[in-house]
Amino acid sequence: MEARTAESMEMRGQGLGTTPSENPTFAGRIELPYTLTTGKAAATFLAELANKRLIGSRCTSCTDIAVPAQDFCAACGETLSDLVVVAPTGEVTGFTETEAGGVLAMIRLDGADADFVHKVLDVGFDGLEIGARVEARWADEATGNVMDIAGFTPTEAGPGEAPQAFKGSDAEPVLQQKYGLRLEYDHAFGPYYGTLFDGIASSRRIQGVRCPSCKCVLVPPREYCDTCFCRTAEWVDVADSGTIKAFSIIYMEFVGQTREPPYVYAEIVLDGAATRLIHTIAGIDVEDAKERLRTGMKVKAVWKNGEPSGSLDDIEYFEPVFED
Ligand SMILES: [Zn+2]
Ligand SMILES: [Zn+2]
Repeated sequence: MEARTAESMEMRGQGLGTTPSENPTFAGRIELPYTLTTGKAAATFLAELANKRLIGSRCTSCTDIAVPAQDFCAACGETLSDLVVVAPTGEVTGFTETEAGGVLAMIRLDGADADFVHKVLDVGFDGLEIGARVEARWADEATGNVMDIAGFTPTEAGPGEAPQAFKGSDAEPVLQQKYGLRLEYDHAFGPYYGTLFDGIASSRRIQGVRCPSCKCVLVPPREYCDTCFCRTAEWVDVADSGTIKAFSIIYMEFVGQTREPPYVYAEIVLDGAATRLIHTIAGIDVEDAKERLRTGMKVKAVWKNGEPSGSLDDIEYFEPVFED
């Protein structure tokens, strides 16, 4: 801890624009879970995988066949099509290697007019060729997902049966699927947040920067004043106490929430600062908060016990200071 303090001091001595040497990044993640409405044609395609059948759509206008079945013809835009059963065999028209060493290929199923992208199994990137014949391998268990086809494997089989009209089945269409996007990234602290976090980690010191034009102290610190667009020029210590400018009681649950509702979120201006910082207010019964909390009320940081992590999360919450 001592060494870290010394290092932080030295770094500050070099003035603005230096990069703190510790904790240079933090791991960030954006998650977006959603429910995908598959559409009529794809819903049948997904459902029929359980019956080990590949369902395509034949356009009533241009007669092109697409697999998986589509609600619109990609070739001519026609919305009317007939569902057909397509043979589980085809030809590789293009392929690539994934980072994990797997092979993804464009497969032209026998009788289809468009390619279907899926995994190729049992053969590596170097062993595969354009034009190779492949056959679907079914997964052990069907879950109404495109992975009900485990992948395609090389086959000696010649062209399969021509597409046949699909006569329907008892399989329940898979109308919705749970999906999610996830983006993991490293966010660089940079010299401004880095200095703030180093100060918090070494000595619970909260620092902002002063704008040379409007003289406002900005917390968290940043390179430019948001009001004057001037480059900030001076580090300033601010207190770990402040004033509530606005608050909200959160009852709703949402994705990525780090606290269990209900809790109070507030915009706080720290003593010595000019900008608002968002943090939680606790140390007060949430049900009483509606009645007892007011804007303009003073609050004081309650720091977490133990080794600091070097972020604003080292402040557990802000506690209201009741003056009466
Ligand atoms: Zn068409
Ligand atoms: Zn300014």
